[in-house]
Amino acid sequence: MISKVNILGIDHTIDYIPKCELLEQCAGLVEYAKAEIKISNELVPQQKKRVILHEILHVILNELNITDENLCDICTEDLIKRLTVGLVNVDIIDIKTEGV
Ligand SMILES: [Zn+2]
Repeated sequence: MISKVNILGIDHTIDYIPKCELLEQCAGLVEYAKAEIKISNELVPQQKKRVILHEILHVILNELNITDENLCDICTEDLIKRLTVGLVNVDIIDIKTEGV
């Protein structure tokens, strides 16, 4: 599983941590100031891939200053969930899942 991803020119580390260290109901989170993405290590590889993509989209929207306030009829979380579903099966997005 990947441990680093470059998003808009900034290297972000990806750490796999116990779910109990994440917020309740969360399988992942981004610490924007530290350029760190944290993913639950209790997920199966396909779930990790989806959560990594979800958190990458959070970083992109944050960097592009796309917020709930400047979207019309959808909040950023809903947008990210829909984009994740749409993108997770695109062949060019090849987040490796071997060796987990
Ligand atoms: Zn989210």
